[in-house]
Amino acid sequence: MAAFSTCLLAGPASAQRLIPNDPGEPPNGRTKLKLVPRPGGAISRQSVDEKAMRALIHQLVACGTRISISSWTDPKRGVGCGRDQVAARLNEIAKDSGGRLQVVVDKFEASSKRTGGNPAPMENVYAILPGSDPKFAKTVFVVSGHMDSRPSDDMDPKLDAPGADDDASGTAVSVECARLLSKLAESGHANFRSTILFAAVSGEEQGLLGSTHLLEWLKQRGYTVGGMLDDDIVGADRAPGGPHRVRVFSGNGTIDDCDSSSRELARAIEEIDGRGAIRMIFRVDRFGRGGDHYPFYRAGIPAVRFTEPLEEYSQQHQTPRTENGVEYGDLEKYLDFRFMGNVARDNAEVLRQLAMAPAPPSQATLEGAVTPNAKVSWSAEEDPERAGFEILWRETTEARWEVFEFVTTGTEAVLKGVSTDNHFFAVRAVGENGARSIAVPTEMDSNRRGSNSR
Ligand SMILES: [Zn+2]
Repeated sequence: MAAFSTCLLAGPASAQRLIPNDPGEPPNGRTKLKLVPRPGGAISRQSVDEKAMRALIHQLVACGTRISISSWTDPKRGVGCGRDQVAARLNEIAKDSGGRLQVVVDKFEASSKRTGGNPAPMENVYAILPGSDPKFAKTVFVVSGHMDSRPSDDMDPKLDAPGADDDASGTAVSVECARLLSKLAESGHANFRSTILFAAVSGEEQGLLGSTHLLEWLKQRGYTVGGMLDDDIVGADRAPGGPHRVRVFSGNGTIDDCDSSSRELARAIEEIDGRGAIRMIFRVDRFGRGGDHYPFYRAGIPAVRFTEPLEEYSQQHQTPRTENGVEYGDLEKYLDFRFMGNVARDNAEVLRQLAMAPAPPSQATLEGAVTPNAKVSWSAEEDPERAGFEILWRETTEARWEVFEFVTTGTEAVLKGVSTDNHFFAVRAVGENGARSIAVPTEMDSNRRGSNSR
């Protein structure tokens, strides 16, 4: 983490300086950049309530199964029992929030192959922390875990499905984020300009039904999703030598240069939490698998998935049993609350900084083909709390952005002596409070596309 921020503060071009003879690079001796420091008051690891996370997971496991096609009305067994536990815990947290946090139980129907093709009743639980800035109150950052679980047979509600890791862990992370952030808002120690929504969805195991519905629910209410964090299987860290980094999966997207908004969210997460905490994986999900961030990602919304470092498949989607001396089942005893607490902190800190940040530029454009200079321009609405914009760049083979320039006035920057050919560029907004928006990669001016083909 320290190495990364030093690199940022030291200014741009460290990678380029290793190859001093490449032409088309910025001149030497550029003055060091003075960047706005990140917001103080980061959420501390000690402030995470591991005991409360453990208690919620224990209650969820005690529901026997939480498969979404089980009973929604039996208080003792089934997914309805799970919903009751989550709603009760969120209501408790809301009580301490000075009336800020609003708890919503969202009922709907959805069908898929794994509901037998028939509409099945589903419910999601949300806690909403409304943004303070009228301009951003309809921008929402979402953190989500799925409260449903499944046994080996994904159609059988009679079998036990404890789902401690998949995904009571992600549900507990989402709920703990609600506690940490509503408390910060209530105490006046943070001003969240945007709205934050903490979700526990159902229907994940029946085909991402709850998250697909959540996206529709948000759209119908006029929300723009600024970012979506899906926490799914974040409860264990089994390999020796931990704590290890949590994996953050982000898809390539379809635009030029593989810089999807989801990838930009992943980069923002790594920058906020540090490289020692986050392992970025440039892949939409684990190979051949899926999760609740996917409907958001497919809609072009910044969305990523958090998953533990090394999964144990005998402890996922398995009816608890012992077979040939091997114990199967997603059981509480395999959980690691030190690791899970880290994930909760890292999610909460990302939400804290993003909800404090100005809006990202609405569009960023790169011009300067067949000229010696690169010109970056962007558009953005007025915002008196914005300090300016950072122009980011990276070698085409690099994974991470560096800050090239900080611009306090205007909406364009001419990068003298920088070739448009050898780097990728992006722009992000910086608040007076030091919070950064996610980056918006530059696109070619559409009028010029193809016109300089020679
Ligand atoms: Zn899952």
